[in-house]
Amino acid sequence: MQNTSFTIAVYPGDGIGPEIMAVAEAVLSAARAKVGGFDLSLNTYSAGAAHYLKHKEDIAAADFQAGSDADAILLGAMGLPSVRYPDGTEISPHLRMRTANELYAGLRPVKTFPNMPGPLGSPKAAEIDLVVIRESTEGLFASLNGGSRVSDTEASEVLTLTRSVCERLCDQAFRLARARKAKGGKGEVTCVDKANVFPAFAFFRRIFDERAEAFPDITRRYAYVDAMALDMVRKPWDFDVLVMENIFGDIISDLGAGIVGSMGLAPCAELGDRNGLFQPAHGSAPDIAGQGIANPTAMILSAAMMLDWLAGQHDVPQCAEAAALIEAAVTQGFTDGAIRPSEFGGNTGTVEIGEAVIARIG
Ligand code: ATP
Repeated sequence: MQNTSFTIAVYPGDGIGPEIMAVAEAVLSAARAKVGGFDLSLNTYSAGAAHYLKHKEDIAAADFQAGSDADAILLGAMGLPSVRYPDGTEISPHLRMRTANELYAGLRPVKTFPNMPGPLGSPKAAEIDLVVIRESTEGLFASLNGGSRVSDTEASEVLTLTRSVCERLCDQAFRLARARKAKGGKGEVTCVDKANVFPAFAFFRRIFDERAEAFPDITRRYAYVDAMALDMVRKPWDFDVLVMENIFGDIISDLGAGIVGSMGLAPCAELGDRNGLFQPAHGSAPDIAGQGIANPTAMILSAAMMLDWLAGQHDVPQCAEAAALIEAAVTQGFTDGAIRPSEFGGNTGTVEIGEAVIARIG
């Protein structure tokens, strides 16, 4: 029988995490009630910096496992600059979730919202609607598993790309472009690399071309990462899906958040073959925590991405319908001026933004 009842492991985390998560849960509940045909069990677990201070561990082993066993993981934000592991790094159990669940594809949509003035100053900026797909388990970050060599006179890192991950990453990119094309998207994937200089990136591009053969309805494009950075500022409205190695994706996706004006608008999905983790691209923002002014839009849109992904994984179109309803309600809230977040000089608080979205879900 078809599974329409999904278990979601919820980790609100630190700083503004619990505030924006409460809003996202209320929005999910409203969309589910409106559309019907599926159920969500939201199970909340404690993890992160505050948990570490209290329990001397960043997450209980059983609560970590609950994420791997769930149908999806919904995460607020983890870490606080003032709380560190003994090695000096910030508390980050979510990074282990990425590894444990082989979440190799990080999807960061970059989209403008009506009435939100971005920094580009072009009327074309209203048309920005692209997705950066960042490989998230290897590339230059593979160096962290022992590839860093640092002495007093020299430092080096090792970049690793594996065929298995690159193939699945490119497939994700082409499938996403196809799904977006069905909704009126451009139907293009751009391979972002530095294949003119580094053999590892020529390898990446070769695999991109091989996988493209299975998607003849999708147009292939290519960009060297330096030219891509230029075009992200010059004509980002010209792009659809961009796929790239880990460190390139790290940088280009933040550039994407910058050109639409705020981290508070940037959702994120980290996908593997069996599990997905959904969280806003921003951190725990301790500077504004507890003030009721955090923008929950990225968190709400991450929850919508979760529904969309569940729809595809389990063939439950009602989940996709609920996701579309949430996205439309968010857009409507910005269009009619009900949502004016604090980062844009507005005064719509965290809870009020949630209420505006729920009212527009109907
Ligand atoms: P991390 O390294 O954990 O990703 P960070 O140090 O890059 O985090 P953030 O926590 O993302 O920093 O915050 C960066 C800035 O953006 C801060 O000034 C913060 O207040 C602001 N900010 C982040 N998220 C939001 C949000 N949802 N609403 C409003 N402002 C936000």
